Amino acid sequence: MDRLHKVALIHAGGTIGMRRGRRGFEPAPGHLAALLEDMRELADPRIPGFELVEFDPLLDSADMRPADWERIAHAIADRYQAFDGFVVLHGTDTMAYSASALSFLLEGLAKPVVFTGSQIPLAEIRSDARENLLTSLMLAARDDLAEVVLYLNGVVLRGNRATKVSSSGFDAFASPNEEPLGSVGVAITLHRERLRPPQAGPLRVVPLADVTVAALRLFPGMRAELLRTVLAAPVRGLVLETYGAGNAPARDDAFFEALAEATDRGVVVVNCTQCLRGRVDMSGYVGGARLREAGVVDGGDMTAEAALTKLIWLLSQDLPTRAVIAGMHADLRGERSA
Ligand code: ASP
Repeated sequence: MDRLHKVALIHAGGTIGMRRGRRGFEPAPGHLAALLEDMRELADPRIPGFELVEFDPLLDSADMRPADWERIAHAIADRYQAFDGFVVLHGTDTMAYSASALSFLLEGLAKPVVFTGSQIPLAEIRSDARENLLTSLMLAARDDLAEVVLYLNGVVLRGNRATKVSSSGFDAFASPNEEPLGSVGVAITLHRERLRPPQAGPLRVVPLADVTVAALRLFPGMRAELLRTVLAAPVRGLVLETYGAGNAPARDDAFFEALAEATDRGVVVVNCTQCLRGRVDMSGYVGGARLREAGVVDGGDMTAEAALTKLIWLLSQDLPTRAVIAGMHADLRGERSA
């Protein structure tokens, strides 16, 4: 029945399609295509028809840059009318960044975009790739899904809420601040009330500019000079990963002076918590209040990945600083709670 749906299977790289080389797993052109030829289950009528699009070069996702997010977005946009949905095969290391970025870059999205990959290559005997691939193809053929999601190991997560939590388990991802959109066991169940409605079209890829941003995780004893160095031009945005509910060293005046000097110059500094769960609240402690007074933006319960990609996307758009700040505060694609 599902041969009626057609899915573009976009292979950007990652472990799923890698081959064992002399120095470890590495991407290998044509390798995945050959493996897929041998998977008889892909001809099952319950699996949608698909067309493989292989990137050149295939990348370990540690090599991905914002230009690669744009490349994936264009691969989708170029085929948007011809396909019902899209699966992006991608390395798990930076999948949460790419899925977050795509949720912002694909304006007017009304079809499923499913990121998946695996912890063990498809060619290996105990691989998690087969199930991830088959279920992702089925998810990409759903008419009730119209956003960027991430699927691995039985859970469907909103792409911009996901974060990699395990380097060794098949349960590599979680979305600690949002319930999964769906679960996959005996049945594939999507929770309709959690899904985002299709956006009004047409689909448009927002181009990214060459903006310089940074991310910095606070640690005890971090010197204000380090912060100053990070915030120096040409940096235009910083995701500052703070303690707990958005807290920072309240007694370190030089620290807040460095921040205030940067925000006065128009640098957008976003406060995200180092905690996996929960949100920033800059009214709880003096350190948080001082961050707010220094012009730091409340990142709410966004993941650091979502905050960073959103910042790049907003700064790419030639907006006044206050509009970038308002955009960071707003929930635009389901990436933060109210
Ligand atoms: N290093 C790999 C990558 O991110 C890991 C994986 O795919 O799981 O490309």
